[in-house]
Amino acid sequence: MPAFPQSTVLGYPRIGPHRELKRALESYWDGRSTRADLESAGAAIRERTWRGLAGLGLEGLPSNTFSLYDQVLDTAVLLGAVPERYLQAADPYFAMARGTDGLAPLRMTKWFDTNYHYIVPEVGPETAFKLDAAKPLGEVREARALGYETRPVVVGPVTFLLLSADPAAALARLDDVLACYEELLGALAAEGVAWVQLDEPALVADRTPAELAAVRVAYDRLGNAAARPGLFVASYFGHLGEALPVLAATPVEAVGVDLVRGGLDGLEALAGRTVVAGVVSGRDVWRTPPERAARALEAVRTFAGQVVVSTSCSLLHVPYDVAAEPELVPALRERLAFAEQKVAEVVALARAGTTAAHDRGAPHEPDAGHHARATGDEDHGAVGARSPYRVRAAAQAARLGLPPLPVTTIGSFPQTGELRAARAAVAAGTLGPEEYESRVRAEIERVVRLQERLGLDVLVHGEPERNDMVQYFAEHLDGFAVTRNGWVQSYGSRCTRPPILHGDVARPEPITVGWAAYARSLTDRPVKGMLTGPVTIVAWSFVRDDLPLREVVRQVADAVREEVRDLEAAGVPIIQVDEPALRELLPLRRTAQAGYLEWAVAAYRRATSGAGDGTQIHTHLCYSDAGQILAAIDGLDADVTTIESARSGAGILDAVGSFGRGLGPGVYDIHSPRVPDAAEVEDLLRRTLAVLPAERVWVNPDCGLKTRTYEQVEAALANVVAAAATLRAELSP
Ligand code: GLN
Ligand code: ZN
Repeated sequence: MPAFPQSTVLGYPRIGPHRELKRALESYWDGRSTRADLESAGAAIRERTWRGLAGLGLEGLPSNTFSLYDQVLDTAVLLGAVPERYLQAADPYFAMARGTDGLAPLRMTKWFDTNYHYIVPEVGPETAFKLDAAKPLGEVREARALGYETRPVVVGPVTFLLLSADPAAALARLDDVLACYEELLGALAAEGVAWVQLDEPALVADRTPAELAAVRVAYDRLGNAAARPGLFVASYFGHLGEALPVLAATPVEAVGVDLVRGGLDGLEALAGRTVVAGVVSGRDVWRTPPERAARALEAVRTFAGQVVVSTSCSLLHVPYDVAAEPELVPALRERLAFAEQKVAEVVALARAGTTAAHDRGAPHEPDAGHHARATGDEDHGAVGARSPYRVRAAAQAARLGLPPLPVTTIGSFPQTGELRAARAAVAAGTLGPEEYESRVRAEIERVVRLQERLGLDVLVHGEPERNDMVQYFAEHLDGFAVTRNGWVQSYGSRCTRPPILHGDVARPEPITVGWAAYARSLTDRPVKGMLTGPVTIVAWSFVRDDLPLREVVRQVADAVREEVRDLEAAGVPIIQVDEPALRELLPLRRTAQAGYLEWAVAAYRRATSGAGDGTQIHTHLCYSDAGQILAAIDGLDADVTTIESARSGAGILDAVGSFGRGLGPGVYDIHSPRVPDAAEVEDLLRRTLAVLPAERVWVNPDCGLKTRTYEQVEAALANVVAAAATLRAELSP
């Protein structure tokens, strides 16, 4: 087995520094270019990546980290796990990813605790596994033609099966899947590949004995394969825990460990092996504290056969290059490292060897990041408490005078092309701020009039001023910076630009009050103010690592608390504080989950508990997996909780019905262009009323309407209002 190179990265961004892949994909999907055009755009991105990495001095270049859509979907194709129904489609790959007319796509969900979404494979007794190694082999050859030997990266068998829609049914197919991997290893060996990387991030979450047994079976078998490259099993996003001794007992030659999040505990089990030490974080945008990296490498050197300097995970989760952000203030820029800078850090650390590069980089609190997510022992930050729900409900009923089954929305109305263009024009300096403001006001008026005309009971201003529910707040709070080109892939061609939370958070002045007050001035009906909650703001940002996360969330909660206070003072009677990302930050290990939920809920209550009894607090959650955190949602103590349910079905109702406060299970699936008819909405409402007392039921869509058109929204909301009216008439004697 040839030695592993001294430095590497587990993966690299693939959307292209100027989102070239996004453009190529969308043009192909729209029929404006051919499959060949798309392939050549991909080849150009790969070539640029390999040349760039080699140019920075990186020794171990990965391949097969590129994807036209998603690496888990690629693995399904690699293994022949393509559900039968997609085989007839003109392009089965994109049919699985995005659906076609009459064929729904495969489900999509978040990749561990990141904001990247993968396609959920379907594996069952009927899956006809068959290796198709064209893509990894193709990339190896492509790189070789450019003069580079590479290490193909493939999602490992255990993670692939555990991420499938039905993990138990999938694990039953372990032997068949392993046969494919074995064949793949043979093909790679025949191609002259020295090392292969099998990604097994699923091993850093709690695993059952049966799942750990699958790890043993898998890597014993692959380790004993007749012809194969060196086996490098990469774990990331945490510590291997119980999977560590299991993996260590198999013949794999190299193991990747996340030393940013996982720590060194028990790693001596890897004595004599090649340890690929993830000391440069792939999850944040900060320069690596040199002392921290040096100490970790030093510790690993005491037992490892070879130490390879690497990133903690793929760099997929960070933007390309700090150099593309000339507008950031120098004091912040100096602290930042995006993918390109992180590769340079890996190379420098590998070259420095045992003497570590103490002379580089801005000073940084040693080890601050390492403990950032640990549980502290300070108080949980609750500030005051509201009266019991009963008291609040009476005060709110008297103030609001709402009919039974009040109809409302989740906040946003369609974002029109004109609004987006106006914002771009402001950024380009071709539209003055007053003109922009008057356009936003006109849009608010349009939205208010529309809601009045349709007969909604609680109105919103429609959020026309917001480019994004997190970025908008980041732009108006101290302690945040926003980037110009800091795109990170979210799924497929979709990217976001997470704000960078780099300093103490403060709210210099009210953010949303002017818009909400303007909406109020237009109508006699109650208007609901709209805020993003502290956990969600932090979850969808890159966050400083020199303070515990809970502390950062608490600072944001205080800013939201001030906004709640000012909205209330402006006479806004209902305030919604959205927390759609509450579940996303849930730690992967069960032992850490309760602690997280406790401080996350405390932060929410800190943000909202300043509201008087007569002010109605709403919260909104979506992304369907609320079932996992029901007690925490209850703990938010919101007067009204609106929740996605059109897709997750009535099951969620029984669960959240026990809250004993207002509840609005979504009756309109806004993720689809389809307009539900009134009978359908009525049916959903009847099912809700079968399990919940009518006086607690709210009527609303599943989520914000910003991705829909006015045409769809108008028709759908008219049907929602009509359905509510029918049931209301039945309720009153
Ligand atoms: N208030 C936001 C909106 O309506 C909520 C969006 C969300 O839950 N993701 O757009
Ligand atoms: Zn939502």
